[in-house]
Amino acid sequence: MTMFTAKDQDGRDIVVTRGNVAFLKAGNNQYTCGCCEEKLILKAGEINIPHFSHLASSKCRFASEGESERHLSGKKYFWSGLSCKIFKPM
Ligand SMILES: [Zn+2]
Repeated sequence: MTMFTAKDQDGRDIVVTRGNVAFLKAGNNQYTCGCCEEKLILKAGEINIPHFSHLASSKCRFASEGESERHLSGKKYFWSGLSCKIFKPM
């Protein structure tokens, strides 16, 4: 599942877009998942839409679906407090 939102080290919700990804990359911030609180990697390729990604070893439900071009070109997914509870790892 492609994630466009994360928490920074100050607990603020960050949404990554093509417009701000260079700024976010330049900063020395730590981004974490709003659900599992694991570290997230900010991915900003030339082709892919900028997004946050869990580490490969993550057990988070938000990381359980592979990232495909279809996912990335599809509807953007934003988690909320409610969906976070639904997707919380068992
Ligand atoms: Zn997570």
